[in-house]
Amino acid sequence: MSAPAKCPLCRKPASDAHAPFCSAGCQDRDLLNWLGEAYAVSGPPADEPESLLDKR
Ligand SMILES: [Zn+2]
Repeated sequence: MSAPAKCPLCRKPASDAHAPFCSAGCQDRDLLNWLGEAYAVSGPPADEPESLLDKR
């Protein structure tokens, strides 16, 4: 009944061990993409918490 899950990155059938991804490689890649976006969002050093730390 359950539809076979597919890896969101490469569309291969997902593996149970790495669901929803097909492999550790795609799992890592997705994590890196996610981290990359997080860094991109907090990239501009305009008003980062770090500047507050600098003042103390
Ligand atoms: Zn994959």
